[in-house]
Amino acid sequence: MKRFDKKGMMLFPNPIKKTEICKHKELLVIEKCFCHNGHNLINEHAVFNGFSGIMLKVCRGGQSGTVALSPVYGYKSRVTLDISLKSGEIWDVCCPVCDEHLPVYSECTCGGKIFALFLNKKTDFSKCILLCNRIDCFNAEIKLEHEMAYYSGGYMI
Ligand SMILES: [Zn+2]
Ligand SMILES: [Zn+2]
Repeated sequence: MKRFDKKGMMLFPNPIKKTEICKHKELLVIEKCFCHNGHNLINEHAVFNGFSGIMLKVCRGGQSGTVALSPVYGYKSRVTLDISLKSGEIWDVCCPVCDEHLPVYSECTCGGKIFALFLNKKTDFSKCILLCNRIDCFNAEIKLEHEMAYYSGGYMI
């Protein structure tokens, strides 16, 4: 698998072709998101469909690694570095810059915890992305939050 292109950027495999994604009428891409200390979590080294991904650190029982999430609404995609994540596992999620745990917003119905990524540097829970820390519940929560935000009269970003 080819991981680096000529510029030294990482290229991750993604089953969706860019042309396909651009056909989507109301494409929503998360362009900015921050930890509670204001560190930018969007990282151009993880590219999904031509858009920079959301980079997070995950830890569990002495293991840690990096997870990149697709920033594109409705297109669930995830790439892990240094670790393998199995469906159903619960991981602690940290900011890759300050290494602090991302704030927990609520409990998830699956038994995991819903943590928040903020859409601005104000640590405002009304403008955030909520994700479950259980693997594969994870993506479902992203979509749900986006839909709720979207249907209430406009995406929050
Ligand atoms: Zn941080
Ligand atoms: Zn969950």
